[in-house]
Amino acid sequence: MQLIDGKKTSAEIKQEIADEVKNMVAAGKKAPLLAAVLVGHDGGSETYVAHKVKSCEEVGFGSRLIRFEDDITEEQLLKTVDELNNDPEVDGFIVQLPLPKHINEQKIIEAINPEKDVDGFHPTNLGKLVAGLDTFVSATPMGIVDLIKRYKIETAGKHCVIIGRSNIVGRPLSILMSQKGIDATVTVCHSRTENLKEICKSADIIVAALGRPGFVTADMVKEGAAIIDVGTTRVKSDQTKSGWKLKGDVDFDNVAPLCSYITPVPGGVGPMTICSLMKNTLKAGKQRKK
Ligand code: NAP
Repeated sequence: MQLIDGKKTSAEIKQEIADEVKNMVAAGKKAPLLAAVLVGHDGGSETYVAHKVKSCEEVGFGSRLIRFEDDITEEQLLKTVDELNNDPEVDGFIVQLPLPKHINEQKIIEAINPEKDVDGFHPTNLGKLVAGLDTFVSATPMGIVDLIKRYKIETAGKHCVIIGRSNIVGRPLSILMSQKGIDATVTVCHSRTENLKEICKSADIIVAALGRPGFVTADMVKEGAAIIDVGTTRVKSDQTKSGWKLKGDVDFDNVAPLCSYITPVPGGVGPMTICSLMKNTLKAGKQRKK
């Protein structure tokens, strides 16, 4: 069994991005700038956004953090999105999800200019992905594919089972995995799927993205399968200073001895998600009109 080291791989990709930024700046171009909008004080969101801002510094991007309290109105947030859409200094921006319940997330996503939508959540970018056109691919699926490629996990003709069909992970990943060049045979599972255990048992690659800690157990895994664990659920722990730890969707201790490759949680898919956001921001910076 080989442990897939997302931290190491993301550090390598970030170094590649930093080198490109240096070249851009040396050629007289402005370094890309990412803006992040954070609403409220959700612990998870605070951590993710802090990591994103720190990663911008590491690769040489500019960054801007725009914070609002929970009681911001949808209208005010839409106004901010509009300002960012029209701000020539900003190459790409994200609105950190989830948003408070009184704000319609889809409406906010659809208000973002697709050319600055470095999260790749806008329907235009999702549609381009489906059509196989060049686009901003959402960060987590892109990071998973990078891991699979860099670890040279065989995909052509292989059966890839994805558990979860969300618009940010499972669905776009299923499209990427079945694209020409990757060529996996993909099964997408969800909460209404019957015989999930049997389906998983026939998989060469399992991607668990459902948000249920320890859901994928050893009896669901074929010997030699590659396991990608996307799940990150915060659970109480008496072993950490914060009193919380992140748990993946895979029963790691019992599954690891069976498989060919496995991602840990934390340190697997998570770091890749952030470096994929950096890749998209670099792309946005390169596509800048002026
Ligand atoms: P989501 O929007 O809640 O979607 C979960 C999906 O799992 C849904 O399609 C749901 O089916 C399916 N599902 C739920 N229970 C199931 C069950 N018992 N059997 C089969 N399928 C089931 O979640 P998400 O945003 O995709 O995130 C999934 C997990 O990945 C979460 O733990 C999240 O924190 C994590 N995540 C991690 C990263 C990272 O960077 N590491 C990034 C994004 C998300 P239905 O569609 O039928 O409801």
